[in-house]
Amino acid sequence: MHHKSLTELSAALQGRKISSEELTRFFLDRIGRLDTTLNSFITVTEELALEQARSADKRIAAGDAGVLTGIPVAHKDIFCTQGVRTTCGSRMLENFSAPYDATAIARIASSGTVMLGKTNMDEFAMGSSNETSYFGPVKNPWDGERVPGGSSGGSAAAVAARLAPIATGTDTGGSIRQPASFCNVTGIKPTYGRVSRYGMIAYASSLDQGGVIARNAEDAALLLGAMAGVDPRDSTSVDLPVPDYMTTLSESLRGVKVGLPREWYGDGLDSGVRAVVEAALTSLAGLGVELVDINLPHSPYCIPCYYVIAMSEASSNLSRYDGVRFGHRCENPRDLLDLYIRSRAEGFGTEVKRRIMTGTFSLSAGYYDAYYLKALKVRRLIAEDFRRAFEKVDILAGPVAPTPAFALGEHMDDPVTMYLQDIYTLPLNLAGLPGMSVPAGFDRGLPVGLQLIANHWEEARLFNMAHRYQQETDWHHFVPSRFAGQSETEQNDPD
Ligand code: GLN
Repeated sequence: MHHKSLTELSAALQGRKISSEELTRFFLDRIGRLDTTLNSFITVTEELALEQARSADKRIAAGDAGVLTGIPVAHKDIFCTQGVRTTCGSRMLENFSAPYDATAIARIASSGTVMLGKTNMDEFAMGSSNETSYFGPVKNPWDGERVPGGSSGGSAAAVAARLAPIATGTDTGGSIRQPASFCNVTGIKPTYGRVSRYGMIAYASSLDQGGVIARNAEDAALLLGAMAGVDPRDSTSVDLPVPDYMTTLSESLRGVKVGLPREWYGDGLDSGVRAVVEAALTSLAGLGVELVDINLPHSPYCIPCYYVIAMSEASSNLSRYDGVRFGHRCENPRDLLDLYIRSRAEGFGTEVKRRIMTGTFSLSAGYYDAYYLKALKVRRLIAEDFRRAFEKVDILAGPVAPTPAFALGEHMDDPVTMYLQDIYTLPLNLAGLPGMSVPAGFDRGLPVGLQLIANHWEEARLFNMAHRYQQETDWHHFVPSRFAGQSETEQNDPD
């Protein structure tokens, strides 16, 4: 059952081969048995899940079901879920129960899905390894000594270990794509404005975007279709029709122009990752695409530009956690100032504090022009690089991260090497573009993803290319042997 895609599960549900309650119990049982070592869930919502499954079964029986009705889904713990604890990976929100559902969650729920629980993540989505979570690190299902990537590491590990058929994630600078690459699953970060941010706890508002982590492109297309669309509660969501991604999935790739940003294939790219990416490009060429070299001349400025903007916005967004309105409050404050200081000192972890301090500095009156305003100007130039590239090509392709999954603790003492993880992913967030990570092979037993990038609003092109690639390759079928279980379609890890 855990090897089936969403369409297969949906067919089994509609054909009454299995009920949603049975399917939900099956995944809850896997989580109960297998997540003790992975730590991919912060909260498992067993009772609620079974209740939702029973009402999905009623919908199916009444002939009122869509493709997603009865399908279990895991949600990143950054999305507010009514009456269910929403922690954002932080002690600050350890006991916060949201009074409403995020729009993305409400939309997914209205199609009749079942929520299995809330997945682990870096604290306030700040990180690339899931090690900053107050609830402890997530382990990579391919190697328990390694990180799953971050910040949506819980969602990626849960889907990779087949503890959930599909999951939501968010991506501010790579947090869907990098963990998808590290765990051998398919992740999409849509165009900025495609998915409502209402009820999605803010890290850096001009960069944050919700998306999907799935077993394959087709599954991701189904769920994104359900969660996307304009929302009157989010003025940055855009009123454009959401295409039916399923109708264009299998279109031919003949003549599609794929640009290779030369700056992404230079020094700093691990040779094993390069080999996997190059083999994937050869497969794409076999499907008829035309590979073209392009340049993104402002690439060297992406990391500093992103971190100035992300930290500035974070310092402003996180000012709401004051010990009064939300979350953790210290014991016996002496006065109001003491309440603020101690509640924040106790509630936030080290990385969050580092970012609030750095962001506050770059927004301060004396440094605003030199750092924040300068970064905004550089951001324009970076977006302009992509605009020029898309005059020549339809899609860009490259690595997701410079290396495969690294060891737990490896970068924890050196924030700058951790920030360099995002070198190929965060440029898209600065430009608001959609990007995808697709399983493309293994390097020394560890999964490696291929990154595909499209122009604004062209997610359909990404799904099409990823789907055609997945019809020709089986990388996305590989499951770590510990989680593969017995099944006639069993696929073990490659070595
Ligand atoms: N690793 C990046 C950061 O720490 C991206 C995180 C994310 O996309 N949420 O900011």
